[in-house]
Amino acid sequence: MTTLLPTSIVGSLPKPSWLAQPETLWSPWKLQGDALIEGKQDALRIAVQEQRRLGIDIISDGEQTRQHFVTTFIEHLNGVDFDQRETVRIRDRYDASVPTVVGAVSREKPVFIDDAKYLRQQTDQPIKWALPGPMTMIDTLADRHYKSREKLAWEFATILNQEARELEAAGVDIIQFDEPAFNVFFDEMQDWGVATLERAAEGLRAETVVHICYGYGIKANTDWKATLGSEWRQYEESFPLLQQSAIDVISLECQHSHVPMDLLELIRGKKVMLGAIDVASATVETPEQVAETLRSALAFVDADKLIPSTNCGMAPLSRDVARGKLSALSAGRDIIRAEIAATKP
Ligand SMILES: [Zn+2]
Repeated sequence: MTTLLPTSIVGSLPKPSWLAQPETLWSPWKLQGDALIEGKQDALRIAVQEQRRLGIDIISDGEQTRQHFVTTFIEHLNGVDFDQRETVRIRDRYDASVPTVVGAVSREKPVFIDDAKYLRQQTDQPIKWALPGPMTMIDTLADRHYKSREKLAWEFATILNQEARELEAAGVDIIQFDEPAFNVFFDEMQDWGVATLERAAEGLRAETVVHICYGYGIKANTDWKATLGSEWRQYEESFPLLQQSAIDVISLECQHSHVPMDLLELIRGKKVMLGAIDVASATVETPEQVAETLRSALAFVDADKLIPSTNCGMAPLSRDVARGKLSALSAGRDIIRAEIAATKP
């Protein structure tokens, strides 16, 4: 990519109301059978058109064909029983009823490849596809088979690598792994978290991203954030490990968060997908607010390594608000681009 400061979204966009209940996570589909397949493709196409119209350079599917960024992938695997549910604590933060691992996990057939090929047909711009990371996957399950978080993570890493290689072959330019669990389980991250993530990304020519955030704008997350104090230093634990890792791009949350910007110094040399749009608020940022966040990041990130982005997925927002935020993201980026151009001799 030669564009300076290419914009991107992290993952989800709100779905149209004819496809699924808006502003809701895990919203059930409103269509069935062939109509559902067609409806998902229509929604994906709209998501692409809107990103392009609103100045987004790296195009994603907006997760229009999946219910949830972790569970939809797991649903397609063998070894997990979705009827046998147990209540577990997710990311040490909230209890949820989750499916159970009852046998060896494996991927019988590709999960997202047809959707990715469809996305590829819609645009010549670079496309990015998000997968859950191994640690975030195990944290969303009860395990009655491996009885070891690490063992299960290695199994998932192998499966993710199969899927990622096929996504790459389908024409995906950038493959992202969502690992919000890296913001919570620092010891495990050091012991085997980064290693399993690197296994998931092994052998890829596509650029790789790891996304670590403080979560969607749902109550369990905003309550947790309220306990973190005035300075959020969680990234201080994870960044040095990621700086040393084989992953190309680090995606993080910086808009309206209490992350001290100088922590970016810890990942110097990596590309940074910088969250400059708050997804936990329905207030649309002004272009100048976006520009201010990008400007302060440029003290620690070289301009050719900065990818202006959203903090996280936008599924819980209204479509109007999400559109406004994409527009603010590209307008804020334009301000910085002009400033950089003006300082060139
Ligand atoms: Zn996120």
